[in-house]
Amino acid sequence: MGRTLDFAAERERMVGQLVRAGYVKNPRVRDAFRAVPRERFVPPVDSEDAYVDVPLPIGAGQTISAPSMIAIMLDEASLEPGERVLEIGTGSGYHAALLAHLVGARKVITIERNPELASWGRSNLAGAGYGEVSVVVGDGSLGYPEGAPYDCIMATAGAPRIPDAWPPQLSPRGRIVAPVGSSRHGQVLIVATRRPDGTLHTREGTSCAFVPLVGAQAWPD
Ligand code: SAH
Repeated sequence: MGRTLDFAAERERMVGQLVRAGYVKNPRVRDAFRAVPRERFVPPVDSEDAYVDVPLPIGAGQTISAPSMIAIMLDEASLEPGERVLEIGTGSGYHAALLAHLVGARKVITIERNPELASWGRSNLAGAGYGEVSVVVGDGSLGYPEGAPYDCIMATAGAPRIPDAWPPQLSPRGRIVAPVGSSRHGQVLIVATRRPDGTLHTREGTSCAFVPLVGAQAWPD
């Protein structure tokens, strides 16, 4: 007989681990992880592992990031309710759901280059109660000027450098949280804040390993 999992209990256990390990510091980020059912965003075959702190395959060679990595990014972003966020790389929609919990679903736009993943992510979001998040199909290396300005642009795929298209799409206090690296598979997390003159103040965070950002201002196909 298969194991019946109590996802709510598993979720609480994972959140406790993320807090104890120091990945989740902000109580609002903790509440977001408590609220979003990760089991609805992983392929059914992997639902037993939904609350293991590892990246999981989501098809098309892509992965949903490990919860600890997402926690680090959400902490760096210091999001306030009502801020506008562009996520680049929708994938499963899990990260977008956490963003929606933090700022409000209508304030989140997420862009995905793979149309099949975009529609899967969209239906996962709707199924988990975050149907008001806008899921757009397109090349996020160009940002998404139609929804600008953003208080935060957050990329969940690794770019060779910060694309020139992004900084002009930031609000005056806007920031960019993005994995950037000279290898397609290894990056450091960059946290960049817009200065009043429009230039960026850039800081390097943790090293990380995201799938590549593929696009006009990123890695070639
Ligand atoms: N945030 C996702 C994980 C994304 S994996 C989640 O929570 O599940 C990275 C995603 O970025 C992949 O789905 C990949 O197709 C997408 N991607 C890569 N390059 C992109 C680009 N230029 N624009 C938009 N999406 C891109």
